[in-house]
Amino acid sequence: MTGIRRVLIAGAGIGGLTLAAGLMRRGIEAEIVEISNDLTVQGVGIALQGPTLRALNVIGVIDDCVAVGFGITQLVVGDVDCNVTDRVAMPRLLGEAYPAVLGIMRPDFQEILLRSARKAGVSIRAGITIESLDQDEHGVEVVLSDGAAGRWDLVVGADGIASRIRTSIFDSGLVPVATGQAVWRATLDRPPEVDNLMMFYGPRNKAGFNPVSAREMYVFLVQNPPNPARLAAAELPDVLRGQLSDFGGIMGEAREGIEDPAKILYRPVEVVLAPAPWYRGRVVLIGDAAHATTPHLASGAGMAIEDAIVLSEEVATREKPDDALEGFMRRRYDRSRMVYRNSIKLGEWEMNPQDPDADPVGLSRESIGLLAQPL
Ligand SMILES: Cc1cc2nc3c(=O)[nH]c(=O)nc-3n(C[C@H](O)[C@H](O)[C@H](O)COP(=O)(O)OP(=O)(O)OC[C@H]3O[C@@H](n4cnc5c(N)ncnc54)[C@H](O)[C@@H]3O)c2cc1C
Repeated sequence: MTGIRRVLIAGAGIGGLTLAAGLMRRGIEAEIVEISNDLTVQGVGIALQGPTLRALNVIGVIDDCVAVGFGITQLVVGDVDCNVTDRVAMPRLLGEAYPAVLGIMRPDFQEILLRSARKAGVSIRAGITIESLDQDEHGVEVVLSDGAAGRWDLVVGADGIASRIRTSIFDSGLVPVATGQAVWRATLDRPPEVDNLMMFYGPRNKAGFNPVSAREMYVFLVQNPPNPARLAAAELPDVLRGQLSDFGGIMGEAREGIEDPAKILYRPVEVVLAPAPWYRGRVVLIGDAAHATTPHLASGAGMAIEDAIVLSEEVATREKPDDALEGFMRRRYDRSRMVYRNSIKLGEWEMNPQDPDADPVGLSRESIGLLAQPL
């Protein structure tokens, strides 16, 4: 045991909740402060890849996820009229009893992670953040935004892409940058023929379907806008239907059902990678706070979950805190940077398809192979 007995986590998102549950299961007290008053999340879907499912298995939530999500075993590829041109079997890292990939609605997933953290005894305070940090070699004195103060052995910034902990321990200029693309997700009723991950290539855009429950799916589209400006909610359905206008077949039919702005997420893509190591003394970053990338490998949540699993293992099993944090970096930096770089590269090739080096299928396959290796 490292002597780390009490851990304060900023952020009740995917990484923070997984870490808190992982630490408590190993007998380390974890507390979370979450800046938002509301612990729920926007109702969009997410894809949990095989390595993510493997990591979720460690905190015992995989069956709950499978029960509400939609199991995917194949990537179906097609043309602009949704004629199928290829089917790629995806590896089942947890064996035949589990799907290769799981589509799930984010609110359902958040609920499962919250339940798991609460069941493990994690204290979660909503509407609170860290006001100031002051550390010595044994721990961190923290003042919270409600005026409460305390001392913790380790403070974790799981506070997402716009992390304040990151800008407080690194320089304040380490902020996300736009890549030039934007992503769309629209939740719709799922027709029976959408029973796997589907991706269709049009002349302007790549679009597809991801089933997320027995009843629902989301349409996704990656747009190469000249200028990825924010859009008003009322404009979203029209703009998305316009971006999908080249497509026929089942995508053309789905397009006509895109009407409700509340069911559409539009997000210009931004990225940031903190240099190694992601810690200063007894303050460490995990998840998007350390490495937020593009959605091209659908592995951002997976990387946050893996960070959480590895950090809880290292803290629970090493003799000294420094060894735990060094061990965490050794196991996490190269893998997260690979996902970061390869995801960005896939987006660049979509924006510059004439690039003679462009090999999106090869790079995706290579990345999936690397991610399938043990943590
Ligand atoms: C459009 C889109 C699609 C995506 N699709 C996928 C996908 O299909 N599969 C996948 O694996 N990944 C996907 N991702 C990436 C994934 O959502 C993120 O990588 C993941 O949510 C990161 O988890 P996190 O815990 O680090 O951060 P978050 O989930 O963002 O959680 C951060 C939490 O910290 C809180 N917080 C912020 N500031 C503070 C503060 N100062 N104090 C306290 N709390 C704070 C926030 O309110 C939030 O609750 C997608 C991302 C986008 C944008």
